[in-house]
This record gives sequence, structure tokens and C-alpha cells, in this order.
Amino acid sequence: MPYVITDLCTNDGACVEVCPVACIHTKPGAPQFYVDPEVCIDCEQCEIVCPVDAIFKDIDIPAKYTDFIEVNAAFFRQNKAAIGSVPFDTAWAMIQSSHEYAQMVGAAVTAVVVDEAGAPIAVGKMDKADPVSAELAFNKAYTAAAFHVATATLAAQARQPIMRSLSIAHRGKILPMAGALPIINGVTIVGAIGIHGAARPEQDALSARAGMSVWENAHH
Ligand code: SF4
Ligand code: SF4
Repeated sequence: MPYVITDLCTNDGACVEVCPVACIHTKPGAPQFYVDPEVCIDCEQCEIVCPVDAIFKDIDIPAKYTDFIEVNAAFFRQNKAAIGSVPFDTAWAMIQSSHEYAQMVGAAVTAVVVDEAGAPIAVGKMDKADPVSAELAFNKAYTAAAFHVATATLAAQARQPIMRSLSIAHRGKILPMAGALPIINGVTIVGAIGIHGAARPEQDALSARAGMSVWENAHH
């Protein structure tokens, strides 16, 4: 039951800040923000913060705004249409960049790039990286792809009931720990990069950022 944004929206972006799965987007020149119905997890956080009551749950939407259910869905259909996944060569270059950063700070890590569904595209384990780092790097990448946010932002919620139940639903692959970033193309999540193996999660996160710089340089 996704939420829907109507033309009451004043474009202040308040809902974007609270959405735990980053499914609220717009683009330059668009008259309002939109909710991706395929990603929304029905948490109602956006509705609570909207200063102009522009957001409704689809089943509760007033009759005069029902067209906006399709308006929101169409925005994502149109903007996702031309987007593909992360090419292997790019994924591999991202992994190499992450390795270079890790080596520079004296760490040995595994870097994993996954697609938008959390399936692996490329895995690179440095020679001295702990064997378990491969599984944990994958779990972090899977988590960033599932939540559409940097895993560092989820660390504080690790003990909350919603996080635990989502972890069960994803068969233990949810790992809310710093070290992974979503890969975004326009309004679309196309994958994620996850790193594990450094002495501190913050170093894993910086290694992931080094990998992301490859993607950003190629898309800006
Ligand atoms: S909080 Fe309300 S007004 Fe602000 S961007 Fe979101 S829907 Fe629009
Ligand atoms: S209900 Fe929750 S998940 Fe859905 S758009 Fe609003 S904040 Fe995002």
C-alpha cells in the first residue's frame, strides 16, 4: 500500500529527508515530488512531516486526488525506462578504486558491487583480506541496495524492531553497518557497493566512497 504525493506538494523536500528507503524523488522542472510505488514500504514517515498534507496512503486518498496514484507511478516508469544495470567493467573499476584506497590506509578488504536486486556483479577480495569479509561486504551491499541508502545511516536503527523483522524477511542478509553505498542513476537505484575488512567501519565507508568516485566521474 504505497503512499502518494499530490499536487498540493510545495517541493520543500522535507519528506525526502525522512524516507528510510529513499523512494521519494523529483527532477529539475517537475512540479512536485513523487513516491515510487515499487519501493515504498508504507512507513508513513513522509505523511507525518509534510507541512501541507500533500501525501496520502493510496487506499485513503480523497477521490479528487486518485489520479495521482498513476501520476506517481508514471513518473518512475518514464524515468527508469532507459536505465540499465552497472556494467561489469565499471563495477570492476569501482572495486579496484576501493582496493587502492584500502591499500593506502593499510587495510585489506573485500569489495562487492551488486545490482538493484542485490545480486552480485563483481567481487574483489584483496590477498590479505579476512575470508569472512566477502560475505559481510556482500551483505552490506545487499542492504544498501534494499534500503536505497548508505548503510552508515542505518547503523543507529540496528536494534529497532522494523530492522530486525526486515533482516528476517531478507534471510539475514540485512547488515546495517557502515561500508556500503547505493549506486544511483538519476532517480533510479541501479546497484550498490559494499566493503568490509578494514579495522574500522568508517574506513570501509571511505573505501566504498573511493569506489563510488569511479561511478560519479563516469556519470557527471
Ligand atoms: S514534505 Fe510534502 S510539500 Fe514537502 S516535498 Fe514532500 S510532499 Fe512535497
Ligand atoms: S511511506 Fe515511508 S517508504 Fe513510503 S514514501 Fe513515505 S517515507 Fe518513504
